[in-house]
Amino acid sequence: MNDALKIVLVGTRHPGNIGSAARAMKTMGLSRLALVAPECFPDPHAYALAAGANDVLDVAEVHATLEDALAECRFVIGTTARRRTVTMPELPPRDAARQLVDAQARGGVALVFGRERTGLENHELQLCHASVCIPANPDYSSLNIAAAVQVLCYEIRMATLSTNANADMDAATIAASIDPDDLPATQAEMEAFFQHFSALLDDIDFHKGRPPDMISQRLRRLFQRAQPDPRELRILRGIFSDTQRLLKKS
Ligand code: SAH
Repeated sequence: MNDALKIVLVGTRHPGNIGSAARAMKTMGLSRLALVAPECFPDPHAYALAAGANDVLDVAEVHATLEDALAECRFVIGTTARRRTVTMPELPPRDAARQLVDAQARGGVALVFGRERTGLENHELQLCHASVCIPANPDYSSLNIAAAVQVLCYEIRMATLSTNANADMDAATIAASIDPDDLPATQAEMEAFFQHFSALLDDIDFHKGRPPDMISQRLRRLFQRAQPDPRELRILRGIFSDTQRLLKKS
């Protein structure tokens, strides 16, 4: 079973969907489920639909926010049933699965699913490095969430099987042997960096009364694409701190 790859369900309304998602995961060899603010969990309906995947539900993590659920992850893909206004790389399912499986050698990775009715909010998608959309019927493209989990976990399974055929060490073992300063920063480190950057931009009055959203989104994209390591973030934050210190003196 693969526990380096986390499946995250955000704001799921029906506990039966959580159970069906757990079953879908287990059939594809995945065991790590995280729930963000589920409406009803734990719940007998979740267990009823999990069938033999109770063990996945028993150890499911529950978090208040998506930021908390992703804190230790270093690579994250979000799922969408439709095109969004958020500008980010959009991957077909097979490529998304390949990237997730490859990224496991550099630490924790996650695939994020949205609410049954409204999907992921834009600010939640912005926490992701890329998005994936199952190319369904354009006139009826929204799958049931557990069905979407099944399709994408199947692709992850295929990518994993083709990797394991050639690999002599599994990805999680490789990741554990690398100095964390040589890995891409975690989501928690990236979020602390973005907050510091945004405070600096306020301190120098960069936005001059204009709404900061577009600039913040573009800067996010830039740094997510670069996938800086913790050392690089410390250098940048050192520059921000020195600038802030000088501003206070003047
Ligand atoms: N109106 C919502 C639909 C939500 S469907 C939206 O546009 O996002 C619930 C969840 O199932 C989605 O957030 C996504 O995680 C998953 N899902 C459904 N259809 C999908 C598709 N075609 N591709 C990728 N994920 C899909």
